[in-house]
Amino acid sequence: MKISEIGEFGLIKRLAGGTVFNQQSVIKGIGDDAAVLAVSRGKLLLVSCDMMVDGVHFMREKISPFKLGHKAVAVNLSDIAAMGGIPRHVLVSMALPPSVTVIEVEDMFSGMKSLLSRWSVNLVGGDTVKSQTMTIDVTILGEADPGSVLTRSGARPGDIIMVTGYLGDSAAGLEILVDEKLCEKISGEDREALLEAHLMPVPRLEQSRLLAGMGCVTAMMDLSDGLGGDIKHICENSGVGAKLFLDRLPYSGSAARAAHLAGKKVTDWALNGGEDYELLFTVPPGREEDVKDAFAGAGLGPVTAVGVITESEAGVKLVGTEGEIIPPARGFNHFK
Ligand code: ADP
Ligand code: MG
Repeated sequence: MKISEIGEFGLIKRLAGGTVFNQQSVIKGIGDDAAVLAVSRGKLLLVSCDMMVDGVHFMREKISPFKLGHKAVAVNLSDIAAMGGIPRHVLVSMALPPSVTVIEVEDMFSGMKSLLSRWSVNLVGGDTVKSQTMTIDVTILGEADPGSVLTRSGARPGDIIMVTGYLGDSAAGLEILVDEKLCEKISGEDREALLEAHLMPVPRLEQSRLLAGMGCVTAMMDLSDGLGGDIKHICENSGVGAKLFLDRLPYSGSAARAAHLAGKKVTDWALNGGEDYELLFTVPPGREEDVKDAFAGAGLGPVTAVGVITESEAGVKLVGTEGEIIPPARGFNHFK
């Protein structure tokens, strides 16, 4: 059944059920002119939105509706994780070509709900319109204690630059998605792992919780455009420079094998590949081991020191394996 057969309101009715996973704060969800939400006393409200456009952020023929919904929510949850906050509610706006089927949209919502239910985040509204280009825009509301919000602006010279997880898996997954030869050559296991990293990123909310609780993080953001470009945002906001060490970039065996098969450098993917949605953060010198111990203790995966914050005059530098300085990395930029 095409959505053109049931129309905007028929579609919304079908989607509106089972979208509240934490009833307490929802006085009115989907179905009125605005959602009515209770706010926690003494907390700060975090608000962000992130849009995904067919042909720009995803290829409709290369991603299942379930995964698309999952990713649209994941990238927004990641923004709340990046601030050290707790996600509470999302609103989902969709522009849909009339040829889209009802099942596709329902699957997309199932993908969203799979993440929302996991973190008890409510879907409380949105907007649905017709357009030739499929677009999904998620707005997220989260909260944080006034003292524990982690911004991009607190890094100081001498701080250690750290990242969660592995970098470049998502870029490797994208390469597999568009390069059929590579897709055939690579082992099934590596292919699955890398495609999953690209199509179904998992927001680092537990890692964020742990880091916010430790109280030692001076600046934090999530990695959406690649470490080489994203570190510049912390530098600009904090008024500092940074030195990254190429031989310290954490990448997975799967990414390394894919890069080898593709004739590419895995460190290029780790440095410049986008959409890893790992956390990039800084801690004062001497706290690096505490963070590593805490991650190991909580079973939260790898966490790696990849560089050091410098004075702003030094700019952002990349140090190669021989100690040589490599020209500045690019980052993803929509209009460049
Ligand atoms: P209005 O015309 O007052 O803006 P709509 O008819 O657009 O209201 O929406 C009716 C209700 O359905 C609202 O509560 C809105 O938040 C919800 N809604 C519309 N589209 C979506 C969507 N894609 N996902 C979730 N809720 C939606
Ligand atoms: Mg409306």
